[in-house]
Amino acid sequence: MNQISIRHRRQMLQAVLLVLFLALPFLSVHGSPLFRIDVPAHTMFLAGVPLRVDELFILLLSVLLLLVLFFLITVVLGRVWCGWFCPQSLVNDLIESARRWSASRIPSNIVVQATVNLVAISVALLMSLALLLWFMPPAEVFQIILSPRSNPVAWSAAAILFFIAYLDMILVGRDFCRSYCPYGRFQAALTDQSTLNLAFVEQERHRCVRCGQCLQTCPMGIDIRKGFQIECINCGSCIDACRQVMEARNDPQGGLISYRFGDAGGYRIGRRTLVLACGAVLLLAALVWQAGNRRSASMVVLRNSLADVRELPDRSVVVPWSAIIENRAPQAADFRIEADRGVQLLGPVSHIRIPANAGRRIDFFIHRPAGFPDNTSIRLSLVTGLGTVLQVEQVVP
Ligand code: SF4
Ligand code: SF4
Repeated sequence: MNQISIRHRRQMLQAVLLVLFLALPFLSVHGSPLFRIDVPAHTMFLAGVPLRVDELFILLLSVLLLLVLFFLITVVLGRVWCGWFCPQSLVNDLIESARRWSASRIPSNIVVQATVNLVAISVALLMSLALLLWFMPPAEVFQIILSPRSNPVAWSAAAILFFIAYLDMILVGRDFCRSYCPYGRFQAALTDQSTLNLAFVEQERHRCVRCGQCLQTCPMGIDIRKGFQIECINCGSCIDACRQVMEARNDPQGGLISYRFGDAGGYRIGRRTLVLACGAVLLLAALVWQAGNRRSASMVVLRNSLADVRELPDRSVVVPWSAIIENRAPQAADFRIEADRGVQLLGPVSHIRIPANAGRRIDFFIHRPAGFPDNTSIRLSLVTGLGTVLQVEQVVP
């Protein structure tokens, strides 16, 4: 691996992540978004599967799984997340690249500041736009851009994010990683005997020529020769710098700084890794099982208090009820509501057409025949157009 390799690999990975971040809201599976937390539709799309608000246990499982995977990656790969995957590092790198690029062409403080501000404004705009796209359909986002009054809440949220992102890039930068981000402290408690680390190889200290290149290139201002420091984001810039110094000196043994698993070198599975890996497998199994057993539609029935109960001349009674039916399938479907015990349902309870991932309220009457025993429950069934019973609710008419 030459000097350029680590930096370029990191930049390539960051470019792929950035493209994914921006493209994900536009990707779809069978007409449904691949991933979106659709606030207006009260739905989260996960791998194209629409999850309604009443299915939040699946969301909870997904969040727990992501959390455990995040811990697992931390235990195995240490603080590699910070330098290679974290959006804060990505924007810091962009701003520093813009500053260097500008200074190398026109060494004027005003021009450098103008370039940095221009880049920060562009990145902040892109981030606030992406935020909206992750939480609502692209057509609605473009509507908000054209007419902010159509959704002032979403527009305000995007504007606030824009200012936060802009101020973070201009005023905070690496200080966020150094002083505010809790992840570094938290990561120190999650290291295992084989966690990947970046370290100065003590046994090779005699080869160090004290050129200071590792310190000069470090974006966090760390002298890695003094040992592990919690602010290190594992970006690998010091590895590149030291390797280049050693190559220039024709030292065949290479640089003095390297990534290594654990102090002894070599990877061995530790207890924390094992526990977290088992937790991740169990959560994944539960998630797959829950996703495989989810109903394609749901129904909530409740008394309609806005209409009156009426007694008919034959002493039968009609009682107003409502049903809220949610079609969770990615395509439109027909439903009907059926009752047992010879009870009739009056109203639009058959041929209920509901578009994909949408809900509909149906107001109907339960016609209780004369002599129907008091406090006796009946079963209301939600049935598909093909006759499959999806859900049964017990109600006392
Ligand atoms: S010490 Fe090395 S890996 Fe850590 S932040 Fe500095 S340059 Fe990056
Ligand atoms: S770059 Fe390498 S040789 Fe130079 S000071 Fe750092 S560790 Fe020593």
